[in-house]
Amino acid sequence: MSDYQMYIDGEFTEAESGESYATYNPATGEKLADVAKGGREDVDRAVAAARRAFDTGPWPRMDVKERSALVRQMGERIQANMDTLAQLEVKDGGGTIRKAMMGDVNMCAGVFLKYAEYNETLSDVEDLPDYSLMPGLPGVPNYLKYEPIGVCGQITPWNFPLIMASWKMAPALAAGNTIVFKPASITSLTALELARIADEVGIPPGVVNVVTGPGGTVGEAIASHPGVDKVAFTGSTEVGSRIMALAAPTVKKVTLELGGKSAAIVTEDVNLELAAKGVLWGTFFHNGQVCESGTRAVVNEKVYDDLMSLMQEKAATLKIGDPLDFATDEGPLVSQAQLDTVERYVEIGKKEAKLVCGGERATGDGLDNGYFYKPTIFADVDNGDKIAQEEIFGPVLSVIKAKDDAEAVGIANDSMYGLAGAVWSNDIERAKAIAEQMRTGTIWINEHHLLGPEHPFGGYKQSGVGYEMGIDGYRAYQSKKRIHVDSNTDPNAHMTFSLLFSS
Ligand code: NAD
Ligand code: MN
Repeated sequence: MSDYQMYIDGEFTEAESGESYATYNPATGEKLADVAKGGREDVDRAVAAARRAFDTGPWPRMDVKERSALVRQMGERIQANMDTLAQLEVKDGGGTIRKAMMGDVNMCAGVFLKYAEYNETLSDVEDLPDYSLMPGLPGVPNYLKYEPIGVCGQITPWNFPLIMASWKMAPALAAGNTIVFKPASITSLTALELARIADEVGIPPGVVNVVTGPGGTVGEAIASHPGVDKVAFTGSTEVGSRIMALAAPTVKKVTLELGGKSAAIVTEDVNLELAAKGVLWGTFFHNGQVCESGTRAVVNEKVYDDLMSLMQEKAATLKIGDPLDFATDEGPLVSQAQLDTVERYVEIGKKEAKLVCGGERATGDGLDNGYFYKPTIFADVDNGDKIAQEEIFGPVLSVIKAKDDAEAVGIANDSMYGLAGAVWSNDIERAKAIAEQMRTGTIWINEHHLLGPEHPFGGYKQSGVGYEMGIDGYRAYQSKKRIHVDSNTDPNAHMTFSLLFSS
């Protein structure tokens, strides 16, 4: 039997094939648990359950207060289970316990609480202007009704398993949809804990289904399944594009949160201490395995050298070590595969630019079997270089010189991505002028990484389609129905009929 089974139609269950796969602790390279390895048959079962729960079950029809209460209880239980969830998140996916407790669990819980509130407070009915056939003629009342979309297929990446699950599950559930959720295969455990919590609070069978297994089978089956009405995906641009293609034949609604190569622009009037810490926070938080990481620093030439040396100095103080130790700043990367990717890009970077710190694995002191890598900075990077254009998703910062704001903006925008960005400056008006010219979905001025459940998050260009979080993220799980209400039942009073009937 697997240590962790899938959750389908209100039951924890093995894969129909009986197969399972191992998930590893990236800090030690040791096996952590066996997880049920789902296939197409399991997706079929899950979609059938979600379909029943949506088409004939209580969830979409439930009183708003009652449904919100269950979503809210999920948030409260997640918060109450902080220790267990945070430990499991770190053991399965790396990162640090500080991040998992202060960031992951808090945000995951907060997103459930916020969407319970949105469901209660946002009206599902909205007035529309009266319809009038011609100016001057009396109008006929119209209104909008928001309704759940149906069965939502949801696929997430490995970098923030709990948070990514909350962004998908909470708005979908609050709005009355049913879901077939697939976590990244290497970090599936906490999503299964969320399924357990959904079960415990009494969310009806079939509303939440979690199918674990490889993207190539389980993910493909979800994205192409005729019983799925919407697909919500977070992951790489490459797979996101594939998801769109898989969803096309049955014209599913699609929202995508994809990759990024975000720029952090530093002006010459900046407080250098702030900029040095800020750019490192923007890049090296969670080893750069964050979609909105600011992995391209675009620095005004007047402060370039000073900032460079300050950043090197500070990067060297980051403590790499046991992710369960509260004193650790950087835990392991998520997997051997991710470590290989980072090593490959660093080799490319050494040819393209000047390596000024890191550039190798972190070893010794219990690190040797884990996937630890030193914070790495490249200087004198050209924005056309591979390390400036491609998403590495690791602790690698590319620093590019700019002569003025206009050039900095041009460099920032010269990317296929448009997810996020930052401006570090003491002059807020100047920073805002820069921010407004950057072609990305989120920009921080003198900050990085802050995302809140009330703030829409989405990508420009190849970083995505649609929005998550905020009211937009709630509406993204609803269809809009326009209802035209003519209360005049006299057949001779309907001028429109004359468009068809000549007499
Ligand atoms: P990935 O695209 O490899 O995988 C994401 C998910 O898709 C996983 O669950 C995977 O199993 C599944 N998958 C893989 N192939 C599939 C296929 N053919 N059909 C259906 N599903 C498939 O991404 P990853 O390596 O897990 O995560 C890193 C990427 O995610 C980065 O590009 C990062 O920028 C992006 N990301 C974006 C956001 C955002 O909000 N924009 C947030 C986090 C991560
Ligand atoms: Mn793992």
